[in-house]
Amino acid sequence: MQRQKIEALRIHLVDLPVRAVHSHGSGDVAGIRSVLLEITTDGGLTGWGEASPWPVFTGTAEGNAAALHVHLRPHLLGADPVQVEKHLALAEAVVVGCPEAKAALETALLDVVGQMAGLSIAELAGARHRAAIPMSFSVANPDFDADLDDIARLYEDGVRLFKLKTGFAEHAFDRMRLEKLRDRYGDALSLRIDYNQGLRATDAIRTLRDLEPFGLAFIEQPVKRHERAALAAITRALDTPIMADESVFDAREALAGVEMGLADIFALKIMKSGGIRRALEVAAIARLGGIDVYGGCMFETGVAHAAGAHLMAALPDLHLGCEFYMSTYYAREDLLAEPFPVRGGLVHVPEGPGLGVTVDPERLAKYRTDLLQ
Ligand SMILES: [Mg+2]
Repeated sequence: MQRQKIEALRIHLVDLPVRAVHSHGSGDVAGIRSVLLEITTDGGLTGWGEASPWPVFTGTAEGNAAALHVHLRPHLLGADPVQVEKHLALAEAVVVGCPEAKAALETALLDVVGQMAGLSIAELAGARHRAAIPMSFSVANPDFDADLDDIARLYEDGVRLFKLKTGFAEHAFDRMRLEKLRDRYGDALSLRIDYNQGLRATDAIRTLRDLEPFGLAFIEQPVKRHERAALAAITRALDTPIMADESVFDAREALAGVEMGLADIFALKIMKSGGIRRALEVAAIARLGGIDVYGGCMFETGVAHAAGAHLMAALPDLHLGCEFYMSTYYAREDLLAEPFPVRGGLVHVPEGPGLGVTVDPERLAKYRTDLLQ
């Protein structure tokens, strides 16, 4: 393998329009604002990565673009792309936070290294344990009739996992939606709910017990990120598995979560952990603690979805699916040259070396709002 050097980093800020406003316990989303990182080498290779922050959850696009442009670029120009862990450790040393920028950097490096080695990112991460992952769609339109139309269409497409975003309106609205879905589809759907921190800790156990008869696969993040004792109490009190999302970002929080019985499931997201390697560390801690994991994401284009799919492929155990639906079912148009591979309700792990997907330059130009180079 001929060694190469990183020659340039280009940081594209993009704004993608979406099909509908989606509501969550932590606020509304009306577009996908993301950062695309393009790394080129002196050997003529291009690697793509994405930082897709959510300001109420992980951080801002502007902050992550600045982390890449100002603080990380000087350490990467001229460097050997193969030394991925070295670059990540350095990134962690020179910028606190901004895990999305670190995820973007790792994805772009692994895309280059995979192309050099003729291996997919999943294989670079250890193995391609599976070729496809069941996909969950998030039901989050305040107009539930519009969601019912979407669900009918997705059901026809083979989707069976649906996650209702709850806690942004009154409890009766959440209950009504679950009743309608169970009436219409019976047990054909695996239903999950996600409060995005939207419940008051003092009410949470009573409210959630009322929903246990719906046979939910899991209840996600009912209380605030830092209300960890309350989340552990909910986990003890309910039969339905409880998932920590906002409360577990990285390996340190995962370890503390295992020690205190925080939750039954951790949501893995490369944007929380700072990339695939760090998410695998969270997954290893979860596995040792008897905690299940789930493939979460932020509001992303197909580039970050592809990185997430390689992470999901590399996990030894995966039972609850993933939610990489935005580029197919939420964005009006994605940035990938080929559609992100969702078929029959399954996310197919991209094949080919590296990330296995590429960005369409015309679409990138169409949705780009800024370019730092
Ligand atoms: Mg969540």
